[in-house]
Amino acid sequence: MSQLEVLYQHYLSHPEICTDTRRITPGCLFFALKGDKFNANDFAAKALEQGAAYAIIDEPAYQLTAQYILVPDVLQTLQDLAKLHRSHLNIPVIGLTGSNGKTTTKELIRAVLQVKYQTFATSGNLNNHIGVPLSLLAIKPDTEIAVIEMGANHQQEIAFLCEIAQPTHGLITNIGMAHLDGFGGFEGVKKGKAELFGYLKAHDGIAFINQDNPEITEMAQRNGLEEIISYGQKEGNLISGKLTQSAPTLALAWQKEGSDYKVQTQLTGAYNFENILAAIIIGTTFGLEPAQINMGLSGYTPVNNRSQLLKTGTNTVICDFYNANPSSMEAAIQNLKTMDASKKTAILGDMFELGNESTEQHLRIAKLATTAGFSQVIFIGQMFYNADNTTPENHYFKTPEEAVRWLTANPESESLILLKGSRGMALEKLLPLF
Ligand code: ATP
Ligand code: MG
Repeated sequence: MSQLEVLYQHYLSHPEICTDTRRITPGCLFFALKGDKFNANDFAAKALEQGAAYAIIDEPAYQLTAQYILVPDVLQTLQDLAKLHRSHLNIPVIGLTGSNGKTTTKELIRAVLQVKYQTFATSGNLNNHIGVPLSLLAIKPDTEIAVIEMGANHQQEIAFLCEIAQPTHGLITNIGMAHLDGFGGFEGVKKGKAELFGYLKAHDGIAFINQDNPEITEMAQRNGLEEIISYGQKEGNLISGKLTQSAPTLALAWQKEGSDYKVQTQLTGAYNFENILAAIIIGTTFGLEPAQINMGLSGYTPVNNRSQLLKTGTNTVICDFYNANPSSMEAAIQNLKTMDASKKTAILGDMFELGNESTEQHLRIAKLATTAGFSQVIFIGQMFYNADNTTPENHYFKTPEEAVRWLTANPESESLILLKGSRGMALEKLLPLF
């Protein structure tokens, strides 16, 4: 038996994978991954002491016992094991990528599909070259359908993740200005995300296409995709829909085969319209009744700091500080504009990973926010500061700590507050102030 088969046999009898010695479960397979700041080969003995069945390592341990499995590359072994597991799963796997809205769409799809099926979906944001294999290895034998989020910040990454996840169905949420540096600009983002369509085309997969999105439709055409299921605002798509209420939470009217349905969601942010429609088309494709789809959608409450509306004292906060890039910032600003409140405050933190477009994009977003008619605009971070710090009615802080000090002295009250910035800005630090 090859090393991989040995691992797979063990995995089948005990499907627990661990990569962190603080979370060892008895009998697990411990994969000693290397990161920028750590080398888990150093912790392999500890993992075994704590009950791991095997430690998969790529640096020889001081004393190699039968519990160590020495491989050329631990990460690759993890990926190979995930691929092997996936190839034994005879279920639909929906691959999801895009610049914005992947996690939200994934959660909505999960909420819908689980009304009818044993559904697996990526946990949290585990969407990279480690997270995707871990996700696949978390799929239990009784799973009937899986939704796998795939993230990327450079070319060939989605193609690589598709080889592991082997999606039978795919959806690109949208193409925006995210990870511009790694992809090489906007065209690069399009090319990178289109790798999902390339995979589906080569493997007779089915793509869900948002007809309202010209980039996505063009990418589908360019890849010669034949098996397409379309959705969008216009009638003529299998599913069409429109927003009937955009604030404080979204409501939709949608149509299928000439019949009309209505759903009230608990999501905020008009940009979530397309994410909801994506969940409707997928629910429909997998045979859910409209009432089941609506039940899944209306029952979903965002709890993950993406488009979450929080009432705190006299303020209402749009918690969107999980992440930010120029297109999601623009969507969030537009959304705040449409919301009904006498006092609106936009608190915007730096957007990372924009390469040489950083200054231009920070300036553009700063202008959008400044001219949106909000009561107050607060910018936090060196990049916004460098791009523009001269508009007298705005507030500029180089760090979140400076903003915390100022907001403590000048507390917000009775305001609708948008709180949004890149993950690294950790704007959740401000939340206790409201
Ligand atoms: P990540 O790259 O971190 O995995 P993601 O693609 O999973 O991000 P979400 O976490 O679902 O995206 O959403 C992040 C933010 O993107 C949201 O809080 C919202 O501001 C914005 N967003 C969500 N959906 C859309 C959309 N369809 N269009 C534009 N912006 C969106
Ligand atoms: Mg995500």
